[in-house]
Amino acid sequence: MPIYEYRCESCAEKFEVLTRFAERDRAQVCPTCESTKTRVLVSSFAVTGSSESFASDFAGESTGGGCCGGACGSCGSSPN
Ligand SMILES: [Zn+2]
Repeated sequence: MPIYEYRCESCAEKFEVLTRFAERDRAQVCPTCESTKTRVLVSSFAVTGSSESFASDFAGESTGGGCCGGACGSCGSSPN
């Protein structure tokens, strides 16, 4: 899940929320003043330290059989 940065309209505090893309535009509760007048700041993927664990999880899943699952020919699964 991507992390989005929000800004609170009430106290101008910035905070980050780990949420789904579909819920990106939903107002989040400000952790400082608990206002729901918040606005998402970034639309791109925000990289933080915690995202590294996601990357390694994906890598572990996709390296099941060869470098690319046999679609490139260089991993020994060529029909020739
Ligand atoms: Zn606030």
